[in-house]
Amino acid sequence: MTTVQEIYETIDAFAPFASQESWDNSGLLAGAGTQPAEKILTTLDISQGVIAEAAAQGVQLIVSHHPVIFSPLKALPVQHPVYQLAAHQIAAICVHTPLDMAPEGLNAYAHTLLRECLSLEGRTDVLEPCWKDGRGFGWTDTSTRAWTPQALAQQLQSVFGGAVRYSAKETPIRKIAYCSGSAASMLELAAAQGCDALITGDIKHDRWYAAEFSDVALFDCGHYGTERFAAEILAAHIRAAHPEVTVIAQAGADPAEICAGGEEQ
Ligand SMILES: [Zn+2]
Repeated sequence: MTTVQEIYETIDAFAPFASQESWDNSGLLAGAGTQPAEKILTTLDISQGVIAEAAAQGVQLIVSHHPVIFSPLKALPVQHPVYQLAAHQIAAICVHTPLDMAPEGLNAYAHTLLRECLSLEGRTDVLEPCWKDGRGFGWTDTSTRAWTPQALAQQLQSVFGGAVRYSAKETPIRKIAYCSGSAASMLELAAAQGCDALITGDIKHDRWYAAEFSDVALFDCGHYGTERFAAEILAAHIRAAHPEVTVIAQAGADPAEICAGGEEQ
């Protein structure tokens, strides 16, 4: 019988939990290592809908990117995902920043997706190094062609889907910084490394003005858009190490709808 602990160790081998940021809450957050894990669901977020699907399919372990417990819980209503996990006896491993930084993790995956369509040279540097072994957040790479913001945004939309917000910039874009999730705080880092653009998600209002000041074009491809690949990455690693288990990759959907205007339905 494959156990939760064995799956934990498989994940730890490619995205070490010890590499998590000090503010993170990564690891086995619900259940015990001794529980069975023969049917597993991987996902970006452990939502009520994901737990309902897992319960209906007899899943014993959910492996997610985002932590199901992040801020201290002050109450545990019945509909809360943590309560629901316990009620259905489903364990939860949440990976988060170790998956962001893993050499085969989220940011590396995005580089493989973008390399060809953005004509990147393929010589990446880590945008924000965190550890002595070189692990850190995001990457920088240089394109062999000069992009206008509009052309770059169109390419990004075709890769990430959803809506892409971007800042217009007069000068052509060649050196590109990328970090999945919510990383507009890395704007100054990207500027210091000579980047013309920073691609990320969840960009707040003031960052667009900071980008103008730094002369770096910002591209907001959405938090979900840049991280929805987590389910497939986690599933692929678990399947490779444990061919005996059943793994369901649940890509889910953006929790926010987009109103694109046009004719009223
Ligand atoms: Zn995220």
